[in-house]
Amino acid sequence: MKIVALPLYTIETKNFGTSTTRRKHYDSIPKERVDCVVVGAGVVGLAVARELASEYHRDVLVIESAPTFGTGTSSRNSEVIHAGIYYPPYSLKALFCVRGRELLYKYCLEHEIPHEQIGKIIVATGSSEIPKLKGLMNCGIENGVVGLRMMEDHEAMRLEPELTCVKALLSPASGIVDTHSLMLSFIGEAESHGTLFSFNSTVIGGHLEGTHICLHISEGKALQNWDGMSLLRPDFELIPKIVVNSAGLSAPVLAKRFNGLAAGVIPASYYARGCYFTLSKTKIPPFKHLIYPIPEDGGLGVHVTLDLNGQVKFGPDVEWIGGIDCISSFLNRFDYSVCADRAMHFYPQIRKYYPGLKDGSLEPAYAGIRPKLSGPKQDSVDFVIQFKMVDLLLYNHVQHHKIGLRYYQSNKFDHLTDITMAWVLLVD
Ligand SMILES: Cc1cc2nc3c(=O)[nH]c(=O)nc-3n(C[C@H](O)[C@H](O)[C@H](O)COP(=O)(O)OP(=O)(O)OC[C@H]3O[C@@H](n4cnc5c(N)ncnc54)[C@H](O)[C@@H]3O)c2cc1C
Repeated sequence: MKIVALPLYTIETKNFGTSTTRRKHYDSIPKERVDCVVVGAGVVGLAVARELASEYHRDVLVIESAPTFGTGTSSRNSEVIHAGIYYPPYSLKALFCVRGRELLYKYCLEHEIPHEQIGKIIVATGSSEIPKLKGLMNCGIENGVVGLRMMEDHEAMRLEPELTCVKALLSPASGIVDTHSLMLSFIGEAESHGTLFSFNSTVIGGHLEGTHICLHISEGKALQNWDGMSLLRPDFELIPKIVVNSAGLSAPVLAKRFNGLAAGVIPASYYARGCYFTLSKTKIPPFKHLIYPIPEDGGLGVHVTLDLNGQVKFGPDVEWIGGIDCISSFLNRFDYSVCADRAMHFYPQIRKYYPGLKDGSLEPAYAGIRPKLSGPKQDSVDFVIQFKMVDLLLYNHVQHHKIGLRYYQSNKFDHLTDITMAWVLLVD
């Protein structure tokens, strides 16, 4: 049994051993039994749906609250294929990132997904940062990242004339990917193996009942106009054999609405907003590589990202925010606005490594929100594999091997790169 911590929760329910008392008002609600339900059509849900359908021949239904796929975090990121430098050696994150990167490049090549292995340069802009840079190099080497090379300032600046630094780490394995095309490809493959997609449908909760978990689905306008007080009545219930909770930022709050799931197994969640600014008034991108500073608390530092159209972006910064109520989060009503004033903080950070950045050249772009297992100033937490989630579940699994009772939960896949490993883990 493998259990990974949130937003991917998978519950395979064949025998929970006990029955939960049904609430009467559910009895009149239409119900349907299905094989697998994937909650959320972000890159994680789509990758899992594709894998379940194409490799494991399962009948998959993807339930997504938005009118289309990938409107959450999956379209609000840097689109970087990470090499696997940052994570502590032997951590699951390191394992997933390194292997996931290999799988992702392979997938992109085989499926003609636009991507480019442009490489990354991580810079030390003062001598006090050099030990941290060396630490990153050692970490990357231990993680099995190939091609890492420390460069003196003149060598880095020969590669990137607009750059200033005292030392730099070159990571040739890093790259960029068109996430929209990646998700479209997952959808195409999933659909061609029979996966069905239900958009504008929201899982508002669920309950464990005897040998199954019942998902409560709302499709109507009632949810949009919900006053936050009245009882939310689902339009229908789905009773799947497997539930994958890949609801991204909403995964933990959704898990809390699964009546019968012990609250103690759901890890604490934190949210770190990050804003991006684009570089305007520049016809030729100033850099050919991704340029990253030394990582900061909660993020990788305000870096230079290029997309496949040559657009230059700077970001994301880190702003710790509170959660929002569950229904608002299911409907993705997070604050994604980017205040132009934040640029004031970006200029000095960027000019540490790009002194030629002109005044007035940063324009607000977009924001994304990172779901985190650890909060401000806390040590970062690895993916959590919970063997002891609900004693009864573990007991059943251990005592009656392969009775099919499994629970996977993943609080967050830090990177797109990790999702390719997620499916490996899911079916392991
Ligand atoms: C600022 C930022 C920068 C990043 N940069 C990178 C990077 O460069 N490289 C990298 O690899 N990764 C990066 N990431 C991480 C990466 O974007 C995420 O790991 C990935 O997109 C998560 O995908 P997901 O499918 O879990 O979540 P999402 O894309 O958020 O998908 C979740 C889906 O679930 C739906 N949903 C929610 N609740 C419900 C419900 N109750 N019922 C039905 N549907 C529901 C939502 O509408 C949404 O479509 C970055 C993240 C951020 C925030």
